[in-house]
Amino acid sequence: MSATIDRTSDVELTSVFRTALPELVVDWEAAEMPEPRVVAFNDELAAELGLGALRDQADVLVGGRLLPGSHPVAMAYAGHQFGSYNPQLGDGRALLLGELSGPDGALVDLHLKGSGRTPFARGGDGRAALGPMLREFVFSEAMHALGVPTTRSLAVVTTGDRVHRAGDDVGALLVRVASSHLRVGTFEYAARLPDRDVLRRLVAHAIERHHPGAAAADVPAFALLDGVVGVQAELIAQWMLVGFVHGVMNTDNTTISGETIDYGPCAFMNRFDPDTVFSSIDHGGRYRYAHQPSIAEWNLTRLAEALLPAVAEDDRSNLEASVEQAKAVLETFMPRFRSAWERGMRSKLGLVDEHDDNGALFDGLIAAMRDDRADLTLTFRMLSDEVRRDTRLVSAPLDHGDAVGAWLPDWRTRLAGEGRDPGDVAAAMDAVNPVYVPRNHLVEAALDAAAGGDLDQFRTLLDAVTDPFTPRPGLERHALPAPDDFDRTYQTFCGT
Ligand code: AMP
Ligand code: MG
Repeated sequence: MSATIDRTSDVELTSVFRTALPELVVDWEAAEMPEPRVVAFNDELAAELGLGALRDQADVLVGGRLLPGSHPVAMAYAGHQFGSYNPQLGDGRALLLGELSGPDGALVDLHLKGSGRTPFARGGDGRAALGPMLREFVFSEAMHALGVPTTRSLAVVTTGDRVHRAGDDVGALLVRVASSHLRVGTFEYAARLPDRDVLRRLVAHAIERHHPGAAAADVPAFALLDGVVGVQAELIAQWMLVGFVHGVMNTDNTTISGETIDYGPCAFMNRFDPDTVFSSIDHGGRYRYAHQPSIAEWNLTRLAEALLPAVAEDDRSNLEASVEQAKAVLETFMPRFRSAWERGMRSKLGLVDEHDDNGALFDGLIAAMRDDRADLTLTFRMLSDEVRRDTRLVSAPLDHGDAVGAWLPDWRTRLAGEGRDPGDVAAAMDAVNPVYVPRNHLVEAALDAAAGGDLDQFRTLLDAVTDPFTPRPGLERHALPAPDDFDRTYQTFCGT
């Protein structure tokens, strides 16, 4: 099939990446989809990008009809998966349609996932099932609403085909928007090409797109590394603060932009347990909740290694000096992570001062939530109610475990020391502590119903988690954990 070009649209895509790095792409087209039907469409995002008309153009959303300027490509990348290097991964079932200008003028990628086999498909069928694509839609939009950097979901389209997974599933495709699809794995791939110039061009492209300040640095590649270390430290802090477990933090799922990408076996932790693992394939718990900062640091070390050839030529002394420089940048990851996390905890707890004992106070709450097996999301909302209780003396103490109860006086002392109005403190806390996160049991129920053709639960879930800070009538169950401790045995499967 040869896709026809849509001349009616006034949106024009660019092929900046394809032009800059032809060695890292393969020109490719989406497979023909028998009966594309839009089942989820992000009107708000579409409006920001001038793509509102696509709601009624399923053929464009599945890559069957191309927007002007679009030259779809599959991107090449490598990656460390569960610690082992795979020299060639790449978009096995995805296509970059092109870039367009986002609301702030910066380029964003328009990308399809589930668009058919590409030369990188290996054994895969190139397809995606409806459940996992709706899952990425709801998780990415929930993360965005929580203020966590993430790729976005524009649409989910059923294809009219069936796909074969555990059983026979509805085939679907996700239209994704990202500030780019550059991954640590993109650099790992480029670093191993004989032509050193590809890596240098990739560095220049990434700097221009994501960390423009790095261009003027003495060693731009290390300034880029510094920029990526910074955005990843912020990102992982955000994940930890909301209880997000990515589940498959391979280097090919680690972005240069600092956006969360590739929602497969991810889930939100409910009861606080640092060893939480949901992914069915993560047997050793490599990507458990508490490991996420050190795994991110490990992945960034792989980025540093990939960048070395762009800096150190074959001269040995230069290489040694460069390794030392790269190490110095990598060593900033943990302090930057910790400082971002403490800043987040401060605002979650209604505190404004950078007090010396903050670290101990925050660690104390984490330990208490763990001891009580307290629900992470509910705990922080309970704390703002606790602050409000001061102004409404008649209300009863809220329900919390003994360990959190024993921690409360330290926090109250600190709040009192800051002397702010309790109503203001509680309101500030409620603006950063969500009522609604995607609760695993509700996600599963919504996706099961969707697979059977009923999207009502999915829409309600999406409604709850995309306006997560405002309690609303009718959404009570979305504010509560599963009654039967569902998470204890809950398993997620790699997003296929
Ligand atoms: P992911 O688990 O989505 O991060 O994908 C890891 C790698 O497997 C990437 O190279 C994907 O393109 C590839 N992949 C995953 N599912 C499929 C599929 N159904 N068909 C072809 N390639 C796939
Ligand atoms: Mg991936």
